[in-house]
Amino acid sequence: MATLQLKQVVKQFDDTRVIKGVDLDVNDKEFVVFVGPSGCGKSTLLRMIAGLESTSDGDILIDGQRMNEVGPAERGLAMVFQSYALYPHMTVEDNMGFSLKLAGVSRQERRQKVLEAARILQLEPLLDRKPKALSGGQRQRVAIGRAIVRNPSIFLFDEPLSNLDAALRVQMRIELARLHDELDATMIYVTHDQIEAMTMADKIVVLQGGVVEQVGSPMELYHHPRNRFVAGFIGSPK
Ligand code: ADP
Ligand code: MG
Repeated sequence: MATLQLKQVVKQFDDTRVIKGVDLDVNDKEFVVFVGPSGCGKSTLLRMIAGLESTSDGDILIDGQRMNEVGPAERGLAMVFQSYALYPHMTVEDNMGFSLKLAGVSRQERRQKVLEAARILQLEPLLDRKPKALSGGQRQRVAIGRAIVRNPSIFLFDEPLSNLDAALRVQMRIELARLHDELDATMIYVTHDQIEAMTMADKIVVLQGGVVEQVGSPMELYHHPRNRFVAGFIGSPK
């Protein structure tokens, strides 16, 4: 059974349908990338999976359980956003441990979890710093660290690298791939960047206008695009 299943998922804002009946299976430990042009519904779909947007129609299942009426905190997910607003007055350690503090986790256990995440993200020397004393890439790692400490079964990333410069993006892609290996977690990653999709994904979901155009491995999409849109978007001739 797939870890995450979407069944004919629809999102309607007023009278506009922005997600038009999406079916998708995400398997355990898979790195799945949602890719498509700006406005095609990537963030909306991710927010629905996270429970931050309601589902107008269809079902979202995690480990076989229907999630439609389950709140974001109870879904066992953690989301990393594009604008990774860190709390400016808190240290890296306190930023990373804050959600655990809210959940009533003891100081000792928080410290242990934050140290483990800091080790994975190579943030150990920076734990006492404030966000303003960090580089863009370091801030992004802290934002990922906030997700890791919660030990989610599924990580959701919404264009987490789009505020970084090109060189740092390349480095962070490699780090995220390493993180996926080390954490052994399911990851869903949203981007409008075809190169990110092609280099990072086990499975790519190509979206256009709220519809899934094709799902497949990078090689399947490259060599066997189902239509001109996918061919044009992924970059192989057809
Ligand atoms: P993407 O992340 O692929 O750029 P979004 O999911 O943000 O796309 O948006 C998909 C469509 O839904 C867009 O046309 C956007 O304007 C619309 N949309 C997103 N959020 C809302 C909202 N809260 N109310 C009305 N329309 C929205
Ligand atoms: Mg978006």
